[in-house]
Amino acid sequence: MDHFELRNGELYAEDVPLARIAAEVGTPVYVYSRATLERHARVFREALEGLGRVHLAFAVKANPNLAVLRVLARAEYGADIVSGGEMARALAAGMAADDIVFSGVGKTPAELAQGLDAGVGQFNLEHEEEGHVLSALAHARGQRASATLRVNPDVDAGTHEKISTGKADNKFGVPIDQAPAMYARLAALPGLRMRGVACHIGSQLSSVAPLEAAYARIGKLIADLRAAGHAVDRADLGGGLGVRYRPGEVVPWPADLGEMVARVTSGWNVELMFEPGRVIAGNAGVLLTRVIWVKPGVTHPYVIVDAAMNDLARPALYGAYHHFEAVHPSGERMTAHIAGPVCETGDTFAMNREIDRVGSGDLAIFRTAGAYGATMASTYNSRSLVPEVMVDGDRFAVVADRIGADTIMNAERVPEWLAD
Ligand SMILES: *Cc1c(COP(=O)(O)O)cnc(C)c1O
Repeated sequence: MDHFELRNGELYAEDVPLARIAAEVGTPVYVYSRATLERHARVFREALEGLGRVHLAFAVKANPNLAVLRVLARAEYGADIVSGGEMARALAAGMAADDIVFSGVGKTPAELAQGLDAGVGQFNLEHEEEGHVLSALAHARGQRASATLRVNPDVDAGTHEKISTGKADNKFGVPIDQAPAMYARLAALPGLRMRGVACHIGSQLSSVAPLEAAYARIGKLIADLRAAGHAVDRADLGGGLGVRYRPGEVVPWPADLGEMVARVTSGWNVELMFEPGRVIAGNAGVLLTRVIWVKPGVTHPYVIVDAAMNDLARPALYGAYHHFEAVHPSGERMTAHIAGPVCETGDTFAMNREIDRVGSGDLAIFRTAGAYGATMASTYNSRSLVPEVMVDGDRFAVVADRIGADTIMNAERVPEWLAD
């Protein structure tokens, strides 16, 4: 459920007409609903009640905006981070270092050191050498770093190949059959305190079945590790729950995840950790855009909007669907292609889509843009970096400025030897 709804024929974010935001901030602009974020955070937490010790870490890469992270910090979420930059954001948003999980296949030694110095609560190791380096860094600081070993359970997440992470040949984690021996070597290092195992098999999962298959393998691994004499007190089960992008699309609910996890992990006797991203933020944001032109096409007209692939990359990157709606729908419909101004054919949001009838100058939204939206934005074609707004009841605030091409250009230099 979200708080972007029609009222008297006009789309609102909570109690704020989207047209007001467009008038005051301009377009394109991301609009987040605080109430929706809080609701999703609460529903996800409630779905896991009764599982004993549970740690929730929001996957910062889904939406790293400081105000979004602040809402989640207040909802008592920690952070799942994949870079030093994300760590700085989580800390700045008020998340406790101890509640931060450092994931990522390419953490640099400098980032590992940064994590140790900040007191990050857990490092999810992606391979053995990383564990040796972390141990040495921690030992030199007189610390023992809490760590898990990320395993690749070799299950097909059944999602888009570019967001699938748990097949044997993906770059993430270590092969599960090599995990016991590797775990033993890591557990013997002086600077590590091995806590357990982690997995994350992919994103936008349309069923919990692949997760169940992965967790069953994790359960077996935990039993094997304990049989070998290791203490295991944490299992990080990752993120990945899908959200509804298309009207009527069937996706698992957090409650389905909770029910499955309760069944599969019964008797594990560990702290269960989760790293939800999309399911928290996806439907808590829209990308508000203005139609520049409706250009006649050969089959259908092209609706050219002022948002583009640099603002919302998912359609160009994964062929992703984002639902398009007029802010002031007339009730009439049209079939059209929807594209942005960037000079790439890939800058197309939809082809042959039946949509609300729109004309030049009309406002519209792309829904479900709160996750993997603004965070992937670029300035390609020397466009501005898209701004972000958060709505809270009948008020709103700009939570990220529009950064213009001039500001970007001011960070560039022509060297002296090219000056004349
Ligand atoms: C991306 C990612 C997540 C979040 O995935 P969602 O599908 O957004 O829930 C969680 N854990 C790790 C390690 C990730 O890379």
